[in-house]
Amino acid sequence: MTRRHRQSLVLGSIVTMDPQRPRAEAMAVQDGRILAVGTESEARAALGAGAVHEWRMGEGTVVPGLIDTHNHMHWTGIQSRLVDLSGARSIAQIQEAIRRWAQAHPEAPWVVSGSGWHVASLAEQRYPTRQELDTVCPDRPVYLPRVGHAAAVNTLALKLAGLGAHTPDPQGGKLEREADGMPNGVLYEPPAFEPVARLVPAPSLDDQIGAMRDIQRAYHAAGLTGIVDPGVTPDIMRIYQALWARGELSVRSVLMPLSDSSLPLQDNLARIEQGGLATGFGDARLKLGGIKLFMDGGASLGTALMREPYPDERCNCGIQVTPTEHFRAIAWACARRGWSLGVHVVGGQAIDIALEVFAEIDREIPLAPLRFSLIHAYLWPEERNIREAARMGIAVATQCSMQWAFGPLLVQRFGVALMALATPVRSWLDGGVRVGGGSDSPVTPFAPLLGLWQARTRHIAGTDEPVGKLQAVTGEEALAMYTRDAAWLAFSDHERGMLRPGLLADWTVLSHDPVTCEAEALSEARVLATAVGGEVVHAT
Ligand SMILES: [Zn+2]
Repeated sequence: MTRRHRQSLVLGSIVTMDPQRPRAEAMAVQDGRILAVGTESEARAALGAGAVHEWRMGEGTVVPGLIDTHNHMHWTGIQSRLVDLSGARSIAQIQEAIRRWAQAHPEAPWVVSGSGWHVASLAEQRYPTRQELDTVCPDRPVYLPRVGHAAAVNTLALKLAGLGAHTPDPQGGKLEREADGMPNGVLYEPPAFEPVARLVPAPSLDDQIGAMRDIQRAYHAAGLTGIVDPGVTPDIMRIYQALWARGELSVRSVLMPLSDSSLPLQDNLARIEQGGLATGFGDARLKLGGIKLFMDGGASLGTALMREPYPDERCNCGIQVTPTEHFRAIAWACARRGWSLGVHVVGGQAIDIALEVFAEIDREIPLAPLRFSLIHAYLWPEERNIREAARMGIAVATQCSMQWAFGPLLVQRFGVALMALATPVRSWLDGGVRVGGGSDSPVTPFAPLLGLWQARTRHIAGTDEPVGKLQAVTGEEALAMYTRDAAWLAFSDHERGMLRPGLLADWTVLSHDPVTCEAEALSEARVLATAVGGEVVHAT
């Protein structure tokens, strides 16, 4: 059965997200675009005579194709081929995952895990030691990196990297040790684990393309038709372009080139000032978004830049990754050269700095047309921040799945009252700020249904009590975050985000109507079908 048809008719309960016609029963599609939306007879009349393929959606609800405004698709693809520890709750489960992966991949010279796993989720509340890893894999090196800040390795990996009792702790790093000074396999910060990391063979171009092919299928099965990949290097851009050139980029991708603040400012500026291209360049499949810049670290790591010290660490306010002067120069260059800019800001002080610099620029170059945005912005924007963002037309890319996944850890750290105010989607929306939904995959799960459900229920992992019910949004608002407003954040609202004549025929069919169903019921909702440009890329 071919799934590409010149003309097709989609029949069912349709939520368009088009304020001019919010509901419909039929949609006519021709050559990848929507021709008509309305009653069945209106849609049929638009198609006229000739072969028409009919998609009958039955009980399902058709919504605009779902878009994730913060999704590292390339990274997720690469990670999906490694040992998955994201669900591990004990060291025994880590051992089991390694044993199984090693058995399934006898040809792999190394056993390497994805980095999205958390010691706080483990019963033991500590990293596995080299001996514990040796038990399940003594004959191949094992490397388990964790979110860029630590790694656990086995004895063979230590040996290959030349790390032993004689190795001093490097500047800025630490090797955890046994009584006799021998490293126990737990390595903190890049200077300590770099000697191991650099031995791990990089995936080949073919491996990377294969991983992208597989992950796109998984995304479509989750209802996604588009993503914004926040923070790509030139090497990653080449992988996307390779897929695009082969006609295999089925997830519409908007790439945010990464600003690298570890470079001297002049070198970092060069990409923006001398690149020639700017935000919006590309086509409906592959396009340049804004520049991505890190202002601070992460809340789960204790490196988000806060206004006050962390409750459990009197002198730690977090880390400002990009100095204000460097940030200011990049932001001005973006505004002058037609680049949008998305700034990773988690803590309040980072939010303050970003908005102050934006306000300076906005006095000379209005930022609204450039669609600058705050990414994460969840601990804790104040009312004045919300007012400022609304005034300048600054949008927010939020991740409800992150609130869900990191919730328990952050409640432990900050208490439930403060966490109730984190990711304040209700306040952003009430303040007139546009909010895009997303996941930060592979850091937290990419399923948009999890985000739609969390935004409405404010649940966090591991408990039935909602955290911050007052910040919950309605079904329609949640859906807008993953459709209409996500398309805006993806610089693509002129061609997707709604089901309206003339726009691209990207649609997702859900088992539940996400606007009218009970919020709780969304936890059981399933994706029945997904189409990109009129082509059905997933169907159950
Ligand atoms: Zn991210």
